[in-house]
Amino acid sequence: MLNFFNYTLKDLQDLLIENGFKKFNAQQVFDWVYKKFETNFNKMSNLSKSLITWLNENMHISCLSEEIKLVSKDGTTKFLFKLEDGNKIETVLMNFDYGNSICVTTQVGCNMGCKFCASGQLKKIRNLEAAEIVMQVYHLNKYLHEKGEDLIRNIVVMGIGEPLDNYENLSKFLNIVRDDHGIGIGSRKITVSTCGLVNRFDDWIRDFPQVGLAISLHAPNNEIRSKIMPINNAYNINDIISNVNKYIKATNRRITFEYILIDGINDSDACAHELAELVKGILCYINLIPWNPVDNTTFKRSHNVRRFYEVLRKHGITATVRQEKGSDINSSCGQLRAKNEKK
Ligand code: SAH
Repeated sequence: MLNFFNYTLKDLQDLLIENGFKKFNAQQVFDWVYKKFETNFNKMSNLSKSLITWLNENMHISCLSEEIKLVSKDGTTKFLFKLEDGNKIETVLMNFDYGNSICVTTQVGCNMGCKFCASGQLKKIRNLEAAEIVMQVYHLNKYLHEKGEDLIRNIVVMGIGEPLDNYENLSKFLNIVRDDHGIGIGSRKITVSTCGLVNRFDDWIRDFPQVGLAISLHAPNNEIRSKIMPINNAYNINDIISNVNKYIKATNRRITFEYILIDGINDSDACAHELAELVKGILCYINLIPWNPVDNTTFKRSHNVRRFYEVLRKHGITATVRQEKGSDINSSCGQLRAKNEKK
């Protein structure tokens, strides 16, 4: 069976034409699914009987099954979904003053092994298919639509998994959600976060120069970074900086460096000075992230967030402190799944 959510409008047009239907039929189906949130082909009243029969026999519009939904005091809503093969993934809906944002998962588990992260405690089981990433957006849009609220305007690819380790499905997902005839979220409203798989940067620059890119830096030097992020042994800070320079030269876009602050590990004033020196002159900003406590780690939250921020500002570095959302519902970084998965 073909999964509807793996198709852009163009791809669906090609498929329908190949099977003897008309190009405009694809737009009809798209309108039912994406504008009217109808997922039953039999109810698509303007389609011919033969098209409905063909669709029922060849394609399915599958939906994610909601296992848990937690609503935080600040409105952040966290979903634990069960996939068709029984694996579970998390998706988060956040409301900012600039609109609703979704944080999507790209893999079941993660192999990057970052020491401070809950997702890495459960190894990667498999990549998500493009459709499974699209379905997270669709499911939340349907939820918002039913509540009479505004649909999703921004996507951050910062859920469980390393997106650049699932490049093909990530690309397909990005092409589907950017399609104006479907979900229609523009490149500039999407940010993909990577732990720094710079081997994919040439592809990224070629394919998605307008999509936002964030890099999880989390340390001002290789010594600290290698201690908390094993991936630094494959692609270190020097590799990251040279690839970032290449990225900026090619796209002229500002890059985001994410920097989690962990007590006594990477949050000293000296680290802030070193970080400022490292990124000086690079078109970037630094997103400081208060670390969210994760079970089975010895890390503690930093008390130096404000000072760290001030040091960067004094060096003339643009920085922001990430607004925390949904901390009362285990909203961060794979925690819900980790707690609901047998280890
Ligand atoms: N694999 C990608 C995207 C997923 S994680 C990446 O590494 O960027 C998204 C962001 O959340 C990353 O910056 C990650 O380092 C950070 N993160 C992971 N665990 C966290 C925690 N416990 N508290 C705060 N941020 C965390």
